[in-house]
Amino acid sequence: MFDRHRRLAESIETFDVEKKEIFYSALNIHGHVCGGMPLGFAAGLAALEALDLPRQRNMDTVAIMEIGNAHAAGCFSDGVQFATGCTFGKGVMRKEPKGKWSFRLLHIPTGRAVRLQVRNEVLDGMFAGPFITEYRMKGIKPTDIPEAVADPGATRPFGMDPAAMFVVEGPFEVEVPKKKPCFERVICTGCGATVAENYAHYAESRPYCVDCTPYGS
Ligand SMILES: [Zn+2]
Ligand SMILES: [Zn+2]
Repeated sequence: MFDRHRRLAESIETFDVEKKEIFYSALNIHGHVCGGMPLGFAAGLAALEALDLPRQRNMDTVAIMEIGNAHAAGCFSDGVQFATGCTFGKGVMRKEPKGKWSFRLLHIPTGRAVRLQVRNEVLDGMFAGPFITEYRMKGIKPTDIPEAVADPGATRPFGMDPAAMFVVEGPFEVEVPKKKPCFERVICTGCGATVAENYAHYAESRPYCVDCTPYGS
């Protein structure tokens, strides 16, 4: 697996050393070779470029995905996550599921945002390819699809002109509510669990977790 991923990452001529490393990591963490994740990776790079931002290592930029659940090519979100650095764990990637291959990228300190949507023809091409028609639609898992079928789709987005793949709207200026992270913890009176204080509910001045909070309180 690692050799194959390394080979794929190294084969992308438009990538510098850093992008190859990140894409190699992306393949490893994503777990299988597909077309959706790399398309999202290319989309993430295009959105960063539109905002003139480098890959984000902290929590300054939020990706709001319009991808839905339980449909093909949802792997797109992982590509956006890995390319932009807007990860689920840092709390800077979230889904507003609409079943669309699009997302907004918002830079919190400046309030600048872009919206990116994959062009219909790109999705037409991906959905007509053998990876989906010959294998995925027949219930074959991505890891069981031959390399000769899967690998070309995993590098194809990086050989294409981003403008031909994506519609990028913006940058726009948007209002961003400033939020500070909560460092306080409380112990739930009901179950004894540690709860981040900004998630605690209080009854008679005693803290409760969401699970121990009766409806309506
Ligand atoms: Zn995938
Ligand atoms: Zn509780």
